Amino acid sequence: MQSGMCLEDISKCVRCGGCKANCPTYDEGLTEAMGARGRLALLGGLLSEQLTPTAALKERIYDCILCGACEKLCPLHVDVTEAVYQGRKLLPASGGLRRCMAFLMRFSMKRPALSFRVAQAMQHTIYPYLFRKGVIPFSISVPHVPLKDDRQVYKPEKKVGRIALFTGCSTNYLFPHLGASLINVLVHLGYEVVLPKGEVCCGAPFRSLGLEEEAVQLARKNIETFSKLNAEAVVSLCPTCVLSLKVHYPKLLGKELNNVMDVASFLSNRLSSSQLSPVRNLRTVAYHDPCHMIHSLDVRKEPRDLIRLAGAELIDTGESGCCGFGGVYSLCYRNISRNLMEKRAGVYSAAKADAVITSCPGCMLQLGTGIKNKPVFHIIELLEEALCGS
Ligand code: SF4
Ligand code: SF4
Repeated sequence: MQSGMCLEDISKCVRCGGCKANCPTYDEGLTEAMGARGRLALLGGLLSEQLTPTAALKERIYDCILCGACEKLCPLHVDVTEAVYQGRKLLPASGGLRRCMAFLMRFSMKRPALSFRVAQAMQHTIYPYLFRKGVIPFSISVPHVPLKDDRQVYKPEKKVGRIALFTGCSTNYLFPHLGASLINVLVHLGYEVVLPKGEVCCGAPFRSLGLEEEAVQLARKNIETFSKLNAEAVVSLCPTCVLSLKVHYPKLLGKELNNVMDVASFLSNRLSSSQLSPVRNLRTVAYHDPCHMIHSLDVRKEPRDLIRLAGAELIDTGESGCCGFGGVYSLCYRNISRNLMEKRAGVYSAAKADAVITSCPGCMLQLGTGIKNKPVFHIIELLEEALCGS
């Protein structure tokens, strides 16, 4: 099925309002237009030409963080995020910051290696200045080398299978140590790990800016690259990448890759407590659910099971809200993003836990800026230490 939006999809909404309960942006604005129901009504008005694309309407279509919480609650399974993506396609990125982001992303798509070198060169000069001035929300540390810049294969002593790693931009360019931890775990378990040449951005940030054509090109390239690998699964540390490969690509291209999995789902039935030793200084942990993992991929139990297997006690914080990262959202909607982060960071900071664990590099980055009294780790770091030792 090719992606597209029509009035029929939107008119499935019966306006019950059930979706408002967990909508992070509705919580911030408390106006109808900042929830799924209001956004669908605006998109319906636009498609039926009863409304014109004013700047205010456009803002409501772009200030959705695309978390998917509304879809999980919707009794009629209205595909709200797809409607929002399609709305953005009709209303291309404009306004200073969004247009600038679109330009930078198109540039980095064409020249990823050069973009990485420029990002490196800027990290000790322009980034600290932009961070101090509040233009960027994070203090960015760009590693010396990315996780990969060519085809890489890691071989175990005794092979039980072959896994392809979809590294994703955040792991490759910002957190290569997370990718190294995953490779270490997989090789330890007997998997040959392939990082193919030719992986490109999953396309989610492009779609979030209405750049659908670019997202289609990226999807095509990734499908071509990964379908040739003869791997039993394609595993990623980023739930947004998994969502793109598993859910968006069939909508964009009518094609999908087999067995795309988030790391917790892949490891949950491949690890046992006898293989893992408790990690020193991490006796109690709080777990943060990334939105795309819990709402869109419906993965809740697996990371918790793995944390318990690794010998840590899970502290129930009762917190299940969005951290406010949302990729480029954190740059374009600074106030909403920061407010959401502060709400979550407050709860996790007060929890009687030695650390916060999550399953998404983006959540890690976002929560790490607000939580000062304990570390924030990706689950793969805990599992690597429990399985392989430090
Ligand atoms: S995707 Fe998230 S932010 Fe957007 S309308 Fe749904 S619940 Fe609200
Ligand atoms: S829960 Fe579904 S049907 Fe109800 S208002 Fe929200 S999108 Fe519409």
